[in-house]
Amino acid sequence: MVDKEKILAQIQEQRENQISSPLKDPKYRVQLLKKLRCNIQQMEGEILQALQQDLGKSRVEGYMCEVGMVLSELNYMIKHLRKFAKPKKVSSPIAQFPAKSYQVPTPYGVVLIISPWNYPFMLTLDPIIDAISAGNSIVVKPSETSKNTSAVIAKLLEKTFSPKEVCVCLGGREDCEFLLEQPFDHIFFTGSSRVGKIVLESASKHFTPVTLELGGKSPCIVDQTANIPLSAKRIVFGKFLNAGQTCVAPDFIYCHESVKNKLVEELKKQIVLQYSEKPLENENYPKLINEKQFNFACSLVEGEKVLLGGNVDNSSFKIEPTLVDATFESKTMQNEIFAPILPIVTFDDIDNAILNLRKMEKPLAFYVFSNKKENQHKFLSSCDFGGGCINDVVIHLASTKLPFGGVGHSGMGAYHGKKGFETFSHTRSIVDKKTWLDLPIRYQPHTKKKEKLIRKFMR
Ligand code: NAD
Repeated sequence: MVDKEKILAQIQEQRENQISSPLKDPKYRVQLLKKLRCNIQQMEGEILQALQQDLGKSRVEGYMCEVGMVLSELNYMIKHLRKFAKPKKVSSPIAQFPAKSYQVPTPYGVVLIISPWNYPFMLTLDPIIDAISAGNSIVVKPSETSKNTSAVIAKLLEKTFSPKEVCVCLGGREDCEFLLEQPFDHIFFTGSSRVGKIVLESASKHFTPVTLELGGKSPCIVDQTANIPLSAKRIVFGKFLNAGQTCVAPDFIYCHESVKNKLVEELKKQIVLQYSEKPLENENYPKLINEKQFNFACSLVEGEKVLLGGNVDNSSFKIEPTLVDATFESKTMQNEIFAPILPIVTFDDIDNAILNLRKMEKPLAFYVFSNKKENQHKFLSSCDFGGGCINDVVIHLASTKLPFGGVGHSGMGAYHGKKGFETFSHTRSIVDKKTWLDLPIRYQPHTKKKEKLIRKFMR
C-alpha cells in the first residue's frame, strides 16, 4: 500500500509548484529528457533484466520492443519539443482589425499516468516523455503485476526527476482507486476496457479529460490474393511477440476459405523457423505474466480443435504458439485473448466478412493481407478501428510520426510524437487586440451604415 498522506502532500506540492515550475521552460524540459536518456542508457542492463524476470523477454525483444522504442520517443521529443511549444500565429478575421491572434500550448498541470504490465517499461515511459515534453508534472502508477520492472522504473524516475516533477506510486488496485478519487488535470490510462470504464467514471466527477489506451480483438484478414508465405511470416512475428501479450497483436485470423490450408501450413513452418521445434525450451520465447493469465489462456484451448501447439509448461507459465480452428462461436472468439493462441476463422465472401467484423466492438488494430488494392480499400473503409497495417502487423505502433490510439471500446485519444505533445497540452486561443484603433461598428447604437459594414465583413 502506498503512504496516502505522503502522496497527497506530493500532489499538493506539484500543484503549488505550477506557477514557478522550471517545467514551464521548454529548454528545461529538454535538459530533463536528456538526463532521462542518459539514465536509461546507464540502467539498460537492469531494465532488460527486470523484463526478463517479469515476462521472460529476451535481451533483443526487451530492447526492440521497450528500451529502443522509448529512446526513439525521447530522441524525437528532444529534437522537436521546442518547436511544438512555440505559440502559433494565425490570421485574424478582418472584423477584428487591428489584432494579432495565436494559439499557445500550455501544460494541463498535474497529470496521472496509469500503466499495465505487458510492455511495462515502454507503456510507462512513453506517456511520461510526452507529458514532460508538454510541461506537466506527473503522478505515475506502474502495474503491480510486473513488479520487477516497476521497481526499476521507480529507481530510474527517482534518479531523474524531483518529486515535484514526477512522483511514483508503487501500488495495486486499491491505491489506484485512491489516486482516481483525487482531482487531476488529465488522466492517461493504459489497460483493459473494464478498468478503462472505471477511470472514465472517476474522471467525470472532476471533469478531468482522459486518454484511454485499451485493448480488444484485433482482426487479421488474409484474402485470396495475399502473398501467403510472407503473410504467415509477419503474422507469426507479431502474434507471438511477448507470447501474444501485446495490445495490438493480431487476435484472430480471418481468412478466405480458399487459402486456409496453405496459410495454416505456412504458419506452422514459420512457428518452427522463428521459435524452433520446441518453443517451450526456447529461452528467447517469453512466458505468460502469472498463473492467473496462464490458467485463463489454457482454459481457452480446452476442448477446441488445435491445429498446432497447445502444450504448456506449468512451472514456467509458457504456452506453445498455438493455432486453433475456430468459428465466431468458439471460446477463443468471445474475449481478447492476450496469449500465444491464434484462432483461425474463415469467410467465403468479402461483404459477409465485413458484416461480421462490423458486429464486433471497434478493435485497437486492424490488419489486411491482400495484394488487391480494391479489397484493401473495401476492408479499411468499411470497418472502424484504432489503426493498422496493410500486409503487415503491429509496426504502425513503432513510428513517432503516427499517432497511436483506439476508438470506441479500444480507447479514446492518442499519443506518440507530436500527437503525444498535443495530448498533454491544452491549446489556448489568444487574441491580442491593438489599442491604436477602435473601430466603432460593433458598438451600440446600431445604425443602417454599421449593419451594412457588419454584413460586409461577416460572411
Ligand atoms: P488492467 O486494466 O487490469 O490494469 C491496468 C492498470 O489499472 C494497472 O496499473 C492496475 O493496477 C490498475 N487497475 C486494475 N484494476 C483496477 C481497478 N479496479 N480500479 C482502478 N485501477 C485498477 O490491465 P492489464 O491487465 O495490466 O493490461 C492488459 C490490458 O491492457 C489488455 O486489455 C490490453 O489490451 C490493454 N493494453 C492496451 C494497450 C494500448 O496501448 N491500447 C497497451 C497495453 C495493454
